[in-house]
Amino acid sequence: MPLLELNDVNVSYGDVQVLYDVSLHVNEGEVVSIIGGNGAGKTTLLRTISGLLGVGSGAINFEGAPLHTLTPEKIVERGVVQVPEGRKLFHLMTVFDNLIVGAYNRRANAVKDETLKNVYELFPRLKERTEQLAMTLSGGEQQMVAIGRGMMACPKLLMLDEPSLGLAPILMQEIFNNVRAIADQGATVLLVEQDVKNSLALSDRAYVLEHGRVAMEGEASHLMNDPHVKTAYLGL
Ligand code: ATP
Repeated sequence: MPLLELNDVNVSYGDVQVLYDVSLHVNEGEVVSIIGGNGAGKTTLLRTISGLLGVGSGAINFEGAPLHTLTPEKIVERGVVQVPEGRKLFHLMTVFDNLIVGAYNRRANAVKDETLKNVYELFPRLKERTEQLAMTLSGGEQQMVAIGRGMMACPKLLMLDEPSLGLAPILMQEIFNNVRAIADQGATVLLVEQDVKNSLALSDRAYVLEHGRVAMEGEASHLMNDPHVKTAYLGL
């Protein structure tokens, strides 16, 4: 049984349909990418899984039980955690406080010291800056806090929305390395990215979303060599 499963999910903003019959799954321990151009519906997909948007029709199951009927808070409690695009930190709070906020659910709160130690091991730069206000961090460091905060919630599924967005190439690489390190610890990751090359390189499988529909799916290594993916997304 997959950890996460979407069956024929349709989502609209009012009269405007954005997702059409989206079916996909993520197995435990996998890194799965959703790739696609601007406006393909990637963010909408993650927000729907997180319960921030309602499902028009179709079903989302997590560990075999319906997710789409739950509130966003309950969905986090179930272990589905989204790191939003644009980071959305508390700018006037320290790195430490931003991280601790992530551990508010009961399951996470019980192990927060241990998790924090792990986050600081993955992101030594955050440990050095633990008392620094979030607003004074560089873009890359803010992204590290956002991912760290997501990890503090003890996710069974960590969903990352465009973690490399707006970062200089060297920092982008660092963030992708961080995601790889998190995956190597056995985390299950659903990654939304416009940087198709880097995201496919660290993923097991991927889905190509075009105009709100799953246009292609498969092993990341296979998609990387697909002629359509090469011309449309890899600029080759
Ligand atoms: P990007 O990478 O540019 O963020 P995306 O693949 O994440 O793109 P979405 O943000 O999910 O795409 O948007 C998909 C479509 O839904 C777009 O056409 C967008 O204009 C539309 N859309 C997004 N949010 C809303 C909203 N709140 N109300 C109406 N339409 C919306």
